[in-house]
Amino acid sequence: MSINAALEQLKNVFGYAEFRHAQQEIVDTLIGGEDCLVLMPTGGGKSLCYQIPALVRDGTAIVVSPLIALMQDQVEALQQLGVDVGFLNSTQDHEQRWQITNQLTGGELKLLYLSPERLLMPDTLELLSQVNISLFAIDEAHCVSQWGHDFRKEYQQLDCLPEIFPNVPRVALTATADQRVRKEISTQLQLENAKHFVHSFDRPNITYHVVDANDARKQLWQFLSTQHPEDAGIVYCLSRNRTEQIADFLNDKGRTALVYHAGMSDEMRNANQRRFLLEDGIVMVATIAFGMGIDKPDVRFVAHMNLPKNLEAYYQETGRAGRDGLPATAWMAYSLKDVMTLNSFVEDSDAGQQHKQLMLHKLRTMLGWCELTTCRRIALLRYFDETMDAQCGNCDNCLSPPAVIDSTENARRALSCVYRTGQRFGVSYLIEVLRGSTTDTRVKQNSHDQLDLFGSGQTISAREWRNLFRQLIAAGYLVMDEEGHGGLRMDESCRPVLRGEVEILQRLQRKTERTKKGGSKTKTLIDQSDQPLFEALRGLRTRLAKEAGIPPYVVFPDTTLIALATHKPTEYQSLTSISGIGQTKQERYGDAFINVIRQFVE
Ligand code: ADP
Ligand code: ZN
Repeated sequence: MSINAALEQLKNVFGYAEFRHAQQEIVDTLIGGEDCLVLMPTGGGKSLCYQIPALVRDGTAIVVSPLIALMQDQVEALQQLGVDVGFLNSTQDHEQRWQITNQLTGGELKLLYLSPERLLMPDTLELLSQVNISLFAIDEAHCVSQWGHDFRKEYQQLDCLPEIFPNVPRVALTATADQRVRKEISTQLQLENAKHFVHSFDRPNITYHVVDANDARKQLWQFLSTQHPEDAGIVYCLSRNRTEQIADFLNDKGRTALVYHAGMSDEMRNANQRRFLLEDGIVMVATIAFGMGIDKPDVRFVAHMNLPKNLEAYYQETGRAGRDGLPATAWMAYSLKDVMTLNSFVEDSDAGQQHKQLMLHKLRTMLGWCELTTCRRIALLRYFDETMDAQCGNCDNCLSPPAVIDSTENARRALSCVYRTGQRFGVSYLIEVLRGSTTDTRVKQNSHDQLDLFGSGQTISAREWRNLFRQLIAAGYLVMDEEGHGGLRMDESCRPVLRGEVEILQRLQRKTERTKKGGSKTKTLIDQSDQPLFEALRGLRTRLAKEAGIPPYVVFPDTTLIALATHKPTEYQSLTSISGIGQTKQERYGDAFINVIRQFVE
């Protein structure tokens, strides 16, 4: 009986015909009054897992959400669907809070969103004890973990909920793929006995693409102008300065680029974030301060201008692309310089020695992933303890396998050079010696121009040497010194290489990236002949969104526009067969969209 009720809500409110993945089982479990822990990648459809039970069960569901912006977006989206929902947070005045409180005690709300801080206030707990609570949903549950990037100490205090509200089912949800963090969530939130739902963390609609930074800005432009000329996306940079430079560069090229970093005022940051959500096709150039709480489903690319510090961070950041399931790209330009910068960040941090070692290890794993010549998705998933049988066919290495050459001899020469110069110099110096250059005056001072191997690698370009060194570092044969000056020393493990017992295959850099003009990725999903209709529907969506002061995707996501442009329903009643159109949206926007479609069909 309850599952029918759930399906009915799915159809009537959200406009979807069926549940995805484990959604149905999760919904079932919660409706039945049991706890769950839900691990699903971004875009997997976590929100429905608690929103449907909230609608089906009696009472009000309490949703704990870490960020005010996130909370407001979700509430806005639910209101558009005609759901009775509210939030309590510090942005509200006394009057607004009083109103919500009244609705809550009057049993008028199906969902109430709260920050953990507010939930834990004695007043709030007192208030909640007077109402019928249908369930607790703890969103972004990885915030409970001290190991994650988003640690929030109040999350740990949420373990009081089962004691205070013993018969209310709880669900914790997260997109984190990190095993250690998952374990911590389970113990900290007392969910060991809950049903655990672990979905595959693969994001099949994201294409992974990694390039060796040569002129990263130019490479970025090449990527954007050919693959995403009109799409919205995020460009991550390591420093605030760099975000400003890249944004200027993109604006000069005619794109609308905004910046976001911790050095800006709150107002500026919020204004830029709001524009990113409300307008189409904006490029946000940001430090990693930007991202959490970005629920925008149509982010079509995430570009990294530097190597991220580890694979966990990389996966989380790139995961912000393509939440709507439509094609998206994770692009990265990285260089040896990034490795040195990140290395010195670690060395300069106040972390303990053991923690530093762990961070350096993770950095090297990240670098190693960039150097791969095989399927990137297989390696990514393996890192998160998932196996994938076949190559993905949707990463650069699958799409155009890189050429490799035998560089065993050169690798030995590079290692010898490190040894002969005393294991204290950085890559640039070592390349000078190998290429027989004395531009660096220290070469002569140290008499390294007298070495046998001085100038023995002249036929190889500095860039190729640099790539080879990077690969040797990634493989762990060479280690950066602890002072953070980029000096290299040899690791024990390089002995077999020196003895010529290990073959070193070097990945050749692709000469030019594919230059095919791709246009907007979304557009390629629509028949050429339906493009004008799609554009007209998009125009209408923009206008309606502006009038209502909400993001366009809250009116309808791209998937719904694509379905409308493809199926071209001309009758009001047939709108309900389109994915993403529930009753309220049909009433609110149905006529307007039907009118546009009719004009095209006639
Ligand atoms: P998450 O929170 O896991 O990142 P969301 O809950 O935001 O993901 O869902 C991602 C997108 O998928 C949303 O646009 C949502 O409406 C859509 N979606 C979720 N469940 C379904 C379903 N059963 N059928 C169709 N679309 C769905
Ligand atoms: Zn692949």
